[in-house]
Amino acid sequence: MKALSLKNQNLTLCNTLSQPRPASDEALLKIRLAGICGTDLALLKGYADFCGVPGHEFVAEVLAVGDGVNNDWLGKRVVAEINQWCGKCEQCLRQQYRHCQHRRVIGIREHQGAFAEWLVVKVNSLHLIPDRIDDRQAVFIEPLAAAFRIVEQLQFHTYQEVLLVGAGRLGQLIARVMALQEKEIKIVARYERQRALLQRVAASCIDETEVKPKSADVTIDATGGEPGLLLALKATRPQGVCVMKSSFPTPLITDLTQLVIDEIQLMGSRCGDFTHAIAALEKGAIETESLIDGTCLLEDYQAAFTLAQKKGAMKVLIKPR
Ligand SMILES: [Zn+2]
Ligand SMILES: [Zn+2]
Repeated sequence: MKALSLKNQNLTLCNTLSQPRPASDEALLKIRLAGICGTDLALLKGYADFCGVPGHEFVAEVLAVGDGVNNDWLGKRVVAEINQWCGKCEQCLRQQYRHCQHRRVIGIREHQGAFAEWLVVKVNSLHLIPDRIDDRQAVFIEPLAAAFRIVEQLQFHTYQEVLLVGAGRLGQLIARVMALQEKEIKIVARYERQRALLQRVAASCIDETEVKPKSADVTIDATGGEPGLLLALKATRPQGVCVMKSSFPTPLITDLTQLVIDEIQLMGSRCGDFTHAIAALEKGAIETESLIDGTCLLEDYQAAFTLAQKKGAMKVLIKPR
């Protein structure tokens, strides 16, 4: 099959991989559309030491299933949770599947990804896509679930002012989720294009220099960089919460004493429940079309990644065929 292959930070189009076969609890998927995410760009720079087929934001069709799986799945349009869990470890027994101790992560850790014609995943990670959600919306389910994760983790009714630092691919989705919470939200957006896209969600955009210290009950860093997190921390009000969405390739060096003095909670936030994202898209509550910068065939992956790497770029989609 045709697939993109990452090795030693070098991405190539590879034609020699064989079509994967599903085990008894797995499904063979035909990828319909996949999206390039900031994590994919980080993988190219060596993040997670990943070697193999990248890609974890996708929509697919079930082509075949293993012998232990119900045939009803055949032909269905689906998305898959990126964390492929074991079902047996301590975290899984507590139903903390996304934190499975033995998890493999699609296109990121010990699992092939979606920049390919076909992909095999565990059936227990699949979600059916309602007809009202088209493919171009469905590729956003995974990152949108990550945006909804913040709402799952925080008791939002107890907070008023929210400051989001970063208005890139994930930031735009977080802004849309926050708009649904009817909170007063300010967003630090660097680029004119990002600000224009945020007008749709009526968020008020500010400049980095306009961020007031200790001014927000909840701050969220979605910049992917250390300065963004430090800005968010500085803007967090005493007894407030600072949400970390960025992961960093090297350890942070910063003085955390202010967290003690101001009794600030620093909260990590990663993947979310797909059902919230699917429900919001089905209702038409979240708009994503304006966030798509282009669609490329798998063969044109170089153009796709060049476009995705441009400053202020949003979502670039890849079509395997
Ligand atoms: Zn992603
Ligand atoms: Zn497990």
